[in-house]
Amino acid sequence: MTTFYDEPVHLVRGLGTKLWDVEGREYLDCYNNVPHVGHCHPKVVEAICRQAGMLNTHTRYLHEGIVDYAEDLTGTFADPLKSMMVTCTGSEANDIALRMARAVTGNAGVIATDHTYHGNTDAVSQLSCTNPPPNRWDSVEFVPAPDSYRPVSAQDWAGHVEAAIRRLEEKGHGLAALIICPFFANEGFPDLPEGWLTPAIEAVRKAGGVIIADEVQPGFGRLGTHFWGHEKAGFLPDIVTMGKPMGNGHPVAGVVTSRKVMEAFRDTFRYFNTFGGNPVSMAAAQATLDVIREEGLQENARVVGDYAREGLRELAARHDCIGDVRGSGLFFGAELVLDREAKTPATAFTKNVANALRHKGVLMNFLGVHYNVLKMRPPMVFSRDDADRMLKAVDEALGEVPLA
Ligand code: PMP
Repeated sequence: MTTFYDEPVHLVRGLGTKLWDVEGREYLDCYNNVPHVGHCHPKVVEAICRQAGMLNTHTRYLHEGIVDYAEDLTGTFADPLKSMMVTCTGSEANDIALRMARAVTGNAGVIATDHTYHGNTDAVSQLSCTNPPPNRWDSVEFVPAPDSYRPVSAQDWAGHVEAAIRRLEEKGHGLAALIICPFFANEGFPDLPEGWLTPAIEAVRKAGGVIIADEVQPGFGRLGTHFWGHEKAGFLPDIVTMGKPMGNGHPVAGVVTSRKVMEAFRDTFRYFNTFGGNPVSMAAAQATLDVIREEGLQENARVVGDYAREGLRELAARHDCIGDVRGSGLFFGAELVLDREAKTPATAFTKNVANALRHKGVLMNFLGVHYNVLKMRPPMVFSRDDADRMLKAVDEALGEVPLA
């Protein structure tokens, strides 16, 4: 297991946006999207305990928890995305999405970006260039990760997708799917204008493929302006996968698609998931969804996210190493460079800044194609005070860590 930071943090308690380590030291969590509505949210904790004290079993019996949740959640999607399957992890959800794409298209080929991560099963680990599997399948092709700081046009990016489609067709696989995070979270969350993906999506559909939107990171209101990342990006996927924030830390994930795709999957594969959709998982997921609405957390993400980005822009006026500030809602960050003109990635510096912040009691991470983007994706209850504390720590760290 790989832990974060040169000196890993040993946590024992969490509440809201705060965490405490084994020595009682407090940290501000600016990174963790798993406790979506805040660490140990009392309503979610209570729902889990209540259901665990009533009934928990596998999914071979009728239970209203999964049905009510599926109806509620699919209500947040446009037609025809009204069918849902529940799993335990995002990896499983993406694994099923690939099988659905193959079942409905009759093709095998899949396209992903060259700097993404979609999970850890044998099939979805094929989609990773950053942790390449030893037995790479020949039915997977990659396209360059989009970048808004060193921009590529929508047409040029669609050209990469078309070339990948041609390669898959030449190998006899045909195209089953393009799988993307609609916010390109692992790629460094480029600020792409709405509709930027349209030419690529048209190319995929023309070749008979489907679009899988992996919403594991941007979903559930995090982007502030929209509940789902694909809505913000301005396209309607054929299959949507979700996970991490769905149960506020409880392992629950899922796939939403159309009845047509779901039926093609069910006609092709026999599928059973012992734990996916069990009553306790559904109680956690329902309570999380309820809290997002009751506490107006999507709106909080929009307002506090804008405030935090504004603060980072003010820091950029004083720190030349901040080359770009970007993001949406409570998914944002700054790309750090050695030279603004040349946009030279400050890769080692960014890692050192994340480590320095950890020692200042502020937890965040770094990613992107050059691993030079400070990534902030805090629990959705992140407040203006939290943002001020984060900005102060970033200001200090950028001033203290040697730029090299
Ligand atoms: N998709 C994306 C975009 C992810 O970030 C992750 C987890 N980091 C996954 C899928 C896999 O989810 P899990 O770890 O729940 O299997």
